[in-house]
Amino acid sequence: MKAKPKLYQCPECGLHYRDIAATKKCQAWCTKYKSCNLEIAKLSGEAKAHKRLTKLKAN
Ligand SMILES: [Zn+2]
Repeated sequence: MKAKPKLYQCPECGLHYRDIAATKKCQAWCTKYKSCNLEIAKLSGEAKAHKRLTKLKAN
């Protein structure tokens, strides 16, 4: 059995990242621009799960 990888969550948009650095980048972006940066969001667990992000939930 594989251990579940720890995911970090951006407190602003709620996306999950395996990488704390990406999480912090996302949070910084979300806080500043009140929107998601697709370049960052595509690194999230959600983006990988859905393969493509058609819509990002605002707030
Ligand atoms: Zn975010």
